[in-house]
Amino acid sequence: MTTLAMVVLPLLALTTPDALTPELTQDTVRTAGSNEPNSAGNAVPNQVRTIVLDAGHGGKDPGTHGRYAKEKTINLALILQLGRKIKNKHPDVRVIYTRSTDHFVDLYERGAIANRSRADLFISIHCNASPSSNRVYGTETYTLGLHRTQSNLDVARRENAVILQEKNYQQTYKGFNPNSPLATIMLANYQNAFMASSINFAEKVERSFRQNAERKSNGVKQAGFIVLWKTTMPSVLIESGYLTNPAEEDYLRSDDGQEAISEAIFKAFERYKQEIETD
Ligand SMILES: [Zn+2]
Repeated sequence: MTTLAMVVLPLLALTTPDALTPELTQDTVRTAGSNEPNSAGNAVPNQVRTIVLDAGHGGKDPGTHGRYAKEKTINLALILQLGRKIKNKHPDVRVIYTRSTDHFVDLYERGAIANRSRADLFISIHCNASPSSNRVYGTETYTLGLHRTQSNLDVARRENAVILQEKNYQQTYKGFNPNSPLATIMLANYQNAFMASSINFAEKVERSFRQNAERKSNGVKQAGFIVLWKTTMPSVLIESGYLTNPAEEDYLRSDDGQEAISEAIFKAFERYKQEIETD
């Protein structure tokens, strides 16, 4: 994800209704509107049984690049290594990839895959770029931004109204009215529910980069990433380093670098899993 893209994405989101319409399944509506226990999907997980791993970009979309490395290739290598580590040590955890080869997947489909799988955690891996300086380096882990919440809700409520035009709207949404004040409250509850867990995991990732991979951590940040917007579980987007920094490009492309990065994320995953499952 380039710095430019981070600026453009929120703007783009405002003009892309499809990308912003929250996943309002029957379960979403039912769980949000009642006091059902958290064991169902679309609630804060207390177990990590299913994880969706998302390698950013792919196919016709290469992402950013360095002198020779393409982001999509590094993202895929890292995500596959992470998935293998999880499967090896935790065979009970279901690992689902949004892509496991070099092909294009729509942004909204990535979140939709996680929602359909009733995933307990969504991890999207990217590489960063700094157009202004090749000296910038280090890692960042993003969650959907707190500061974006009000505008997110405003846009989501407006875009939700499109379901009224759907053929089977009443059957699909069981009378859910996106124009009602209750809809706003329900959506707000969702965001709050996953924000704390997302930040918790993001902090573990950044700490692990520092402690286990001796990386420079630029910290946990927030922004309006479309790929995180639709997910109904704790979700993070990891910027694993800057391809515009020649030393970091070499590191990101090296076997040792990829092993260290995927291992650091894996250790954060283990710590997070253990923490929420012993609470
Ligand atoms: Zn990217």
